[in-house]
Order: sequence, then structure tokens, then C-alpha cells
Amino acid sequence: MELYDVAIIGSGPAGLSAAVYALRAELKTVVFERDSMSGGQVLNTNEVDNYLGMPKMDGFDLGTKFREHAEQMGMKIISAQVMQIEKQEGNWKVITDGETYMTKTVLLATGTRYRKLEIPGEAELSGRGVSYCATCDGAFFRNREVAVIGGGDVAVEDALYLSRICKKVYVIHRREGFRAAPSLVSRMKETENIELVLGFVPEKITGTDTVDGLMIKERDGEERRELSVSGVFVAIGTVPVNEIYIGIVASDEAGYAIAGEDGKTQTEGIFAAGDIRTKKFRQIVTAVADGANAIHSIEEYLTTG
Ligand code: NAP
Repeated sequence: MELYDVAIIGSGPAGLSAAVYALRAELKTVVFERDSMSGGQVLNTNEVDNYLGMPKMDGFDLGTKFREHAEQMGMKIISAQVMQIEKQEGNWKVITDGETYMTKTVLLATGTRYRKLEIPGEAELSGRGVSYCATCDGAFFRNREVAVIGGGDVAVEDALYLSRICKKVYVIHRREGFRAAPSLVSRMKETENIELVLGFVPEKITGTDTVDGLMIKERDGEERRELSVSGVFVAIGTVPVNEIYIGIVASDEAGYAIAGEDGKTQTEGIFAAGDIRTKKFRQIVTAVADGANAIHSIEEYLTTG
């Protein structure tokens, strides 16, 4: 069986940046992505306005450029879900839903997935009015009334995006202060068809075939309101995609792989880059930097052991 120097799991900005650095270093490299064109969360971002040199860049276009760059370098990418990684005689076995591969090192770059509200109606109406991606689904709600849940960058960006398509956008956030960048919050507050509902949490999403309402409750009080909306966009953050490394790599209480800027985990031969590793600031630019740093560490590991 062929033995790779590095198997990169994930094809978001961290994984693709790592692929470029690995190929430049002439490492025998293979990249795994769960779906063809997985590409990470950047692909679902409406506008990225803080990636240096690319002002007001469409997220999908930026993600596509990342991929094209790695492909031009000769990236070998396999569309398969990695089910398990296992140590075998000093190397690592990567078991996918298709074939099995052998590699000297593994770079985890599996990123995060959307956090769920876990309230009645959410799962039942998912894809039928409940969405986790405004840029993917917003167009279905033209001239309708919708709600966005959350107070981070994603929620506020989603609200701004939807305000250009929908008749009205409610932003439901559990407290007065926002986590999102102040410039985005100012733009949101100046947008006429956005109504902020602060200090409230969602309780139930209603509807039979499709969403027809959202019930919300005051977080520190008893007041309840029912909003007549046909779409509910959930933007309450993300959780790590960690199923393949739990029990193999040490993680923090939230499930992120414990690794410093050098990408080294506490398990020999396994490295982590991007949103999946413990860090304070999860951004495209920090994920790209992680990819480069991790490959530098992998090169050192492969030459010095
Ligand atoms: P986030 O910053 O973690 O914000 C999540 C929001 O959801 C918070 O406002 C939080 O409320 C709220 N929330 C969490 N659990 C909730 C629950 N069960 N019920 C109701 N509300 C809940 O997540 P994000 O907006 O997805 O952003 C993730 C990361 O990507 C951040 O680091 C962000 O800066 C970054 N990002 C950057 C850009 C950019 O730079 N262009 C764009 C998008 C995302 P509290 O505030 O009360 O905790």
C-alpha cells in the first residue's frame, strides 16, 4: 500500500493552505473531503470583508480560488468520509467509507458544523423553513418575513443579507450586547426592515408542512411573543467536527483538539489546523496561517522524528 507523508482531513481554508505548503515542500500528500467541493464554511459566507488584499470578496469565490490554487499545485483530493484513524506500526491508517490509506502523519482540518437550537419544530422543519445558511436558502424567502437567531458575526451578516431579499427580518438575540463586529452591528441598526428583539430566546418553531411561526420567550422574564415568519435562520455558532479523533487526540471541554500555533497535538504524528484546534480567534486568515504552520511542524517531524 502507498505510504503518504501527510493525510490532510478537510478541504476548508486550513486544509487547502496546508496542501499548498505540503506540495511546495514536496511531501507526498493526500487530502480528504467529505463531499465533493466541501470547501468549508467560507463557501457559505455572503461577503468576506477582512481577508487581506481581497476587499468585499464573495465567500464562494474566495473558497473557489483557494481550491484552484491547491489544484494548480497538483493536489490529490479524495471525496470520501474518513470514518476512523488508527495507529499502525509507527504510521497511521486512515479508514474511509471507501478505501483505506496509510500515512506517516495526519493533519486534522475538519472544522466545525452548525450548532442546533434543540427546540421543538427545529428538526421537523429543517429544510422546510428552518435553515442554517442564509446565502444558500435566502432566495426562497423573497418578500417574506423571516427571523435570524444569534448575535455573532454570522447572525448579523445573515440579517443584512436577508434584509435585501426579504420584506422583514427579525433578529432574536438573548442579550443586549452583540458579539459581532461593531461596524456590522451599526449597519444592521440602520437597516429599516430589520427589527431587533433582544433579551428573548426561541422556544418553538411552528408549522405543519413548512414554517409559519416562531415562539419566543423573554430570557429573564415571562413575556412570550409569537412571530409570524416563514423562515427561521439559526446562526448560534458552531461545534467541532471531532468524531474521528475523540479518544485519540486530547481535546478541551468543548471538544476542540488541543494544539498550539505549531499545530502539534498531544498525539505523536497527529496535527491540527483551523477552526478545529483550540484557539481564541476563528477566522479565515487564522485558518490559512494554521495550515502553513502545521506543515512546517510536519516537515520537522518527518525529518527529525
Ligand atoms: P459566535 O460568534 O460564537 O456567536 C454565536 C451567537 O449565538 C452568540 O451571539 C450567542 O449568544 C448566540 N447563541 C449561542 N448559543 C445560543 C443558544 N442556544 N440560543 C440562543 N443564542 C445562542 O458564532 P458565529 O457568529 O457563528 O461566528 C463564529 C466565528 O466565526 C466567530 O469567531 C466569528 O468572529 C467568525 N466569523 C467571522 C466573520 C468575518 O470576519 N467576516 C464572518 C463570520 C464569522 P451570546 O453572545 O449571548 O453568547
